[in-house]
Amino acid sequence: MTAATVEIPMVHADCVSKSFGSNEVLKSISLTVKRGEVLCLVGPSGSGKSTFLRCINHLERVDAGRLMVDGVLVGYEERGDKLYELHPREAARQRRDIGMVFQRFNLFPHMTALENIVEAPIRVKGVKKDAAVVRARELLARVGLGNKADAYPAHLSGGQQQRVAIARALAMDPKLMLFDEPTSALDPELVGEVLDVMKTLAESGMTMIVVTHEMGFAREVADSLVFMDGGVVVESGDPVEVLTNPQHKRTQAFLSKVL
Ligand code: ADP
Ligand code: MG
Repeated sequence: MTAATVEIPMVHADCVSKSFGSNEVLKSISLTVKRGEVLCLVGPSGSGKSTFLRCINHLERVDAGRLMVDGVLVGYEERGDKLYELHPREAARQRRDIGMVFQRFNLFPHMTALENIVEAPIRVKGVKKDAAVVRARELLARVGLGNKADAYPAHLSGGQQQRVAIARALAMDPKLMLFDEPTSALDPELVGEVLDVMKTLAESGMTMIVVTHEMGFAREVADSLVFMDGGVVVESGDPVEVLTNPQHKRTQAFLSKVL
């Protein structure tokens, strides 16, 4: 096999560990997300899911193991056989390629939907305003909000705000999208519209890691499911397989609560 035929995974974690003080939050996590795949990360509160996403997105630095995004080591620079902490400027540059959507929508309240979306492309990427506006309108249409360009967040429902947040992340043309419980703060009747947008995004070939308790979404959309508890990967595999036939007591106990 030549180098070109060996596909570099989008995310590859190899024995990744992370502590806060004496609290070891990630204990030797290993997982792989290939290009175009959707991985659902599930597990009880406090199991380290958000911390893992934050490590991928340069918001936390791993203590041990290797975390690679698109073949590039995250958080460190390798020179010879030594590791050096990555310069913040380089970390910021790498983070631009990763979109993140949080439980709370985090839109700028004093900006319209459109202004929220064009802000980063113009300011961070130097995209011309006209081009950024055209793109933002396309993205708003794509998330079903073509008529809300001039609305302020306060005048949008939680589901609409979250869809704007997704459009805003997509405006940076990310190669990877991270979702941290994107529907957990929503009223139940608004969850579906956000999951539908995420499903369409998955179908378009976006690589995604989704922390969620929405097992219907995991079953239908995800290529793999990883169950974490206490900072370890307890089990992982095909979502339908794991959900219908969980092998570990901890997975069974968790699923009996969320299904
Ligand atoms: P999850 O997203 O699965 O609920 P988190 O990754 O948020 O879990 O948290 C895992 C553990 O790490 C928790 O015990 C939490 O208190 C701790 N933790 C998370 N972030 C920090 C931080 N910045 N400083 C100290 N402890 C933290
Ligand atoms: Mg969390």
